[in-house]
Amino acid sequence: MSHKPRKRFGQNFLKDDAIIARIIDAIRPMPSDRMAEIGPGLGALTVPLLSILDHLDVIEIDRDIVAHLSERFPENRLTIHQADALKFDFSSLGKNLRVVGNLPYNISTPLLFHLSEFPDSIRDMHFMLQKEVVDRMVAEPSTPDYGRLSVMLQHRFDMEKCFEVPPECFNPAPKVDSAIVRMVPLESVEAADEALFSKIVAAAFSQRRKTLRNTLRDRLDAEDFEALSIDPQARAETLSVSDFARISNYLGEK
Ligand code: SAM
Repeated sequence: MSHKPRKRFGQNFLKDDAIIARIIDAIRPMPSDRMAEIGPGLGALTVPLLSILDHLDVIEIDRDIVAHLSERFPENRLTIHQADALKFDFSSLGKNLRVVGNLPYNISTPLLFHLSEFPDSIRDMHFMLQKEVVDRMVAEPSTPDYGRLSVMLQHRFDMEKCFEVPPECFNPAPKVDSAIVRMVPLESVEAADEALFSKIVAAAFSQRRKTLRNTLRDRLDAEDFEALSIDPQARAETLSVSDFARISNYLGEK
């Protein structure tokens, strides 16, 4: 198929067979796995996945690509959902779902947050993302990459950076390095009220250089900091995910 990559859909197609093999190896598909690929594109991952899996669901926004895929693969092997992955109901694909994809980088953060809404349906996820985003996802407290994205995702997922992928493995080559990340939903989350947790984390990181006393002044007074054993002079980047969950649970009970 001759297809001009579309920038608006973040189309950077994988072309390096060795990297494709490494990605499939990291995913470790088994024939009976229930799996969904976001953005199959021209099939760089779809073809090797289907050489192992009995069946695969794909979610693709580009109509031309959908037309091409539906000609290339039989319906009983590949179910194509022509849809925006940001709006797709992943719970409609059943439980124990494995989600994979070389994601369009322009929507990666909202897509990760959207996928966080289906903890009961998803077994694990493997994604290619911008390396810089993966570094932020897996960052530890008190490091420059640690921030809102790290806390919000680490609260829900066990995450591991698998390996990095250089620009020349794609066509066209993106301007940035990429990396593969594995995400496994945690069995339980520490914060009882997710919405409150999210607000606290957003407020705490709203001004990175300011102390918690400043950023959380509308919610916590000196007594509260004392009760929580958290230093009001500390900055958000020094708190662990559990610290944020403790603050959220404390305020939820108050
Ligand atoms: N998997 C292919 C590969 O590795 O070569 C293509 C990856 S390309 C980086 C991203 C793919 O996601 C493209 O096929 C693009 O059309 C598709 N895409 C972009 N935005 C999307 C969206 N909102 N929902 C579903 N698919 C999307």
